[in-house]
Amino acid sequence: MFKLIEKLEKEHILSKEELVALIDQHNNTEISNFLFKKAREVKEYYYGKDIFIRGLIEFTNYCKNDCYYCGICSSNKNVARYRLTKDEILSCCELGYDLGFRTFVLQGGEDPWFNDERMVDIVSSIKIKYPDCALTLSLGERSYESYKLLKDAGADRYLLRHETANPEHYSCLHPQKMSSEHRKECLLDLKSLGYQFGTGFMVGSPYQTIENLAEDLIFIYDIQPQMVGIGPFIPHHETRFANFSGGTVELTIFLISILRLILPTSLLPSTTALGSIDEFGREKAILAGANVVMPNLSPTQVREKYMIYDNKVGTEDDALTSLENIKRKIESTGNKVVVSRGDAKTTN
Ligand code: SAM
Repeated sequence: MFKLIEKLEKEHILSKEELVALIDQHNNTEISNFLFKKAREVKEYYYGKDIFIRGLIEFTNYCKNDCYYCGICSSNKNVARYRLTKDEILSCCELGYDLGFRTFVLQGGEDPWFNDERMVDIVSSIKIKYPDCALTLSLGERSYESYKLLKDAGADRYLLRHETANPEHYSCLHPQKMSSEHRKECLLDLKSLGYQFGTGFMVGSPYQTIENLAEDLIFIYDIQPQMVGIGPFIPHHETRFANFSGGTVELTIFLISILRLILPTSLLPSTTALGSIDEFGREKAILAGANVVMPNLSPTQVREKYMIYDNKVGTEDDALTSLENIKRKIESTGNKVVVSRGDAKTTN
């Protein structure tokens, strides 16, 4: 197995069978520690001790989709829905800028109210006011034309997790009108438009197999994103998956390390979901090769309404507290938060 990890470090990909064999060892402490060390070395080779921060603004919890795992899915009638106004979004950016953020991430449910006209206005206003900042969007599936308009308005990056590369598994997690093929087409559109783009998946989602995870890794290698966000699936009590078990920290950080070896210069977030299932989940991810954290800049009064899974951490904190908590955690790992846009490096 150690040889396989060295092969992955050198060649950046393994066969599906080899990946399955490797992932299967995620509970083996000796192998995990070896893998984490390799991943840390690769991260430090390219990024040193730097960890990038992104200011996350959860600007709408309206969603037209009904993903079976998600707490803000359209069929959950118990969600108190909200939308931030353009001025509220700009105030979040102002606060974030003063705290040292140079990347803002606008994330939301797929909310048709935020049509192209409204989004273009918001994107261009942010970019006019903060030309030195990168703007990331995470608005779900839109048309090529829409992605183009947003790019032309100044958006730099786009996050769209593929959720699972296996179409059958995808259909176990989503209603019939959503498809893995369409999600993948959106990613190709984003890539062809020149976005720095990110994809990713939940770890331990219902019906997921180790083979599915190997397929996810191969899909990610093939599409070569600049960012990959993975986090454990955490059940939400008002979804049909309420009684399924969630993903584990061990498997998630093992996969983060594999991703660091697959895409050495990628931006890999240590996600809120990891911090929600384990007090030290985010530190563990950093020590396994992650190099991004995304503290929340959303107004405190809306945070508990963006509850995509149960027991999400940080819903009572304000922006300053979220940032200070995260800085403390990062420093405890021997790394440091840097004030910069935090673009991905290239290997050549
Ligand atoms: N609507 C946008 C989209 O579809 O990309 C962005 C918002 S969506 C809520 C962001 C991510 O949350 C999803 O890609 C999914 O992987 C994750 N997510 C949703 N429900 C989750 C759960 N129960 N546990 C862990 N992650 C979850």
